[in-house]
Amino acid sequence: MRRYARDCLGLKAYLEDPGEGRLRPQIAARHLLWALLFGHVLRENSYHGVEWLVRSSARRAMDVGRAFGDDALGYFTERLDPESTRLALSTACRQAKRNKAFDNSRWIGLAVDGTSSGRSTDSLCRWCCPALNEEGAVLCHLHHLVLVQIVGTGLSLPVDIEPYGENDSEYAAGQRLLERAVKYLGPRFADYVVADAKFATAPFLHTVSALGLKAVARLKANLPELSQAAQKRFDSQPPQVRFTHGRDHIEVWDAEDFDPWESLQWTTVRVLRYRQYKPDGTVIEAYWLTNFTIRELCSESLFGLAKSRWEVENQGFNDAKNRYGMEHIAHHDANSVLVNWLLITLALTIERLYRLRYLRRGNHPPHTAIQLVRLLWLTLGASPAADSS
Ligand SMILES: [Zn+2]
Repeated sequence: MRRYARDCLGLKAYLEDPGEGRLRPQIAARHLLWALLFGHVLRENSYHGVEWLVRSSARRAMDVGRAFGDDALGYFTERLDPESTRLALSTACRQAKRNKAFDNSRWIGLAVDGTSSGRSTDSLCRWCCPALNEEGAVLCHLHHLVLVQIVGTGLSLPVDIEPYGENDSEYAAGQRLLERAVKYLGPRFADYVVADAKFATAPFLHTVSALGLKAVARLKANLPELSQAAQKRFDSQPPQVRFTHGRDHIEVWDAEDFDPWESLQWTTVRVLRYRQYKPDGTVIEAYWLTNFTIRELCSESLFGLAKSRWEVENQGFNDAKNRYGMEHIAHHDANSVLVNWLLITLALTIERLYRLRYLRRGNHPPHTAIQLVRLLWLTLGASPAADSS
């Protein structure tokens, strides 16, 4: 996996020098970095767990050059430059595109969404933000972040993270994040941005357009004029299209001549409404807005792009938090928290490309993520391979 990251994903320089910030390092950055990255792949997410691994007989098979303590990881991540890991993430994604990892998809999407993690009672670092109850009393502290992820390609790859503190907002952090992601990935990397209703604001949509991307955003009651106009019109019409999506039946209403709200500098707005009938009888209804024209993108394809937003919840936050340690703050230092999130993001991206593209040659089905983790742990217990670091 390390050889794959180094040679196939173009990360050789990064794995050697990942943005060292320590003045007189005793332990080379490459050992600490790879132990952290591979630790996340193994789902050994605490610094204590990584220390245990590198002090065990697994260290040589992990291709980590020397042992160290958990305090060395804290000192290292407090000083590591986060931009180097962000650049490494975009390098890996660009290289994956060059290696035709997304060639089965007509459209490449970027999903943007926010979440919170690492609940603590006290405020322990700059990203610890108070969570208040209705009376304004502090319940606990949480760390807020926005994630951007490649979606709609059958290969969900997290790309970058932007944290935000107390006097900031999810939607402003999302704009900064998207601008940086497009700068690092290159202007023609992706085709569209998909986001929840929180991001369906004129400034965010204008940022998307200025970056040369199309926007697909959930439409909810926070845009009352447009959502009421769409509901009124669609309620008086039969659905234009019906199709199946897995075992579900879908009905779609779609029109591209709605008036933009006052601050939105679009000529017209296209709104799509779908009703999704599940076999158990439940019905899901949702509205989406976009500046894709019907000529560019049919109703069924727009439905698919809207659904690609779920990848940032399922293959993004859900995986990162429940399997790869994003819910756990290993070290309450502002730079450490951000670096750790970015390393989780990079570990996920390397693991997915390695498992779903590199190992998936021939006709056999790909390993699931848990199958690969079990195989890797078995490899660590076997007789150690020669140290090639
Ligand atoms: Zn904190």
